[in-house]
Amino acid sequence: MWTTSPFSYYKILLSLFVALCCSLARLSLPLRGWRRPAAPVRGAAAGRQRERRRDGAAPTPTSVNYHFTRQCNYKCGFCFHTAKTSFVLPLEEAKRGLAMLKEAGMEKINFSGGEPFLQDRGEFVGKLVQFCKQVLKLPSVSIVSNGSMIREQWFKKYGEYLDILAISCDSFDEEVNVLIGRGQGKKNHVEKLHKLRKWCRDYAVAFKINSVINRFNIEEDMNEQIKALNPVRWKVFQCLLIEGENCGEDALREVEKFLISDDDFERFLDRHKNVSCLVPESNQKVKLEVAFHSYILAKWKYGLRTRSFHAY
Ligand code: SF4
Repeated sequence: MWTTSPFSYYKILLSLFVALCCSLARLSLPLRGWRRPAAPVRGAAAGRQRERRRDGAAPTPTSVNYHFTRQCNYKCGFCFHTAKTSFVLPLEEAKRGLAMLKEAGMEKINFSGGEPFLQDRGEFVGKLVQFCKQVLKLPSVSIVSNGSMIREQWFKKYGEYLDILAISCDSFDEEVNVLIGRGQGKKNHVEKLHKLRKWCRDYAVAFKINSVINRFNIEEDMNEQIKALNPVRWKVFQCLLIEGENCGEDALREVEKFLISDDDFERFLDRHKNVSCLVPESNQKVKLEVAFHSYILAKWKYGLRTRSFHAY
């Protein structure tokens, strides 16, 4: 039984900054060979889900993005989750929130940032990943990272609890990476990407790549490099303007010089149409999802508050 009051329950959920998505269709696309066997939802949990659906109550938070930090070692000019605060929920509180989400029906968790491996040199995200797989037994546990701080030692310790690692890579030209803000001094982002690809293979973690297409990489041909890395999925985003994050008075970034038109984005997609793992994410689609997530989050929080009064 939870000892938390409805108010503290609500506060934890706010701190978690979850983006909820009930669209199983989008997230259940087949990823060949990567997914560890999923535990079907049975018994009391399944009953609760049915009950919620019948009540017309809050939707089930099937898939959750947990952006637990805004801090990052990179300074990408288009970033829309910037370091406006250094707050990170303490580990045990984060685990408690995750357990609540599991209780509410979560099946998939993705840890993101900022840079998730910055906190406690990757130990924080490692412990959360282990908790989600070992204790909560979630069918899908993933991380999105810029990859720069991940060491093989991390895979040795936590690799068995991770299903998917998605690494951001916007260019295979180091000069372009520096222009974008993904410079690492003497370190080479592309070399690190290849190391991470190998470690994912060695430790049986599915490997994905995320790319943001912007003014500086729009003309690049990435066909050969992506095919050589052979990710299970290559997610290609159109550079996005978010007021207050990368645009406007309070913003820590100025995205304007990175933006591209819809036609430019289509041109990039067309150039890479033979890469079978490519999944495009246009601005329109991401904006719709942001709006949808906000709506679902509000509905879900309200539902949990109501439910907590009844059940606890
Ligand atoms: S790596 Fe990601 S979180 Fe870090 S600055 Fe770049 S876009 Fe933002």
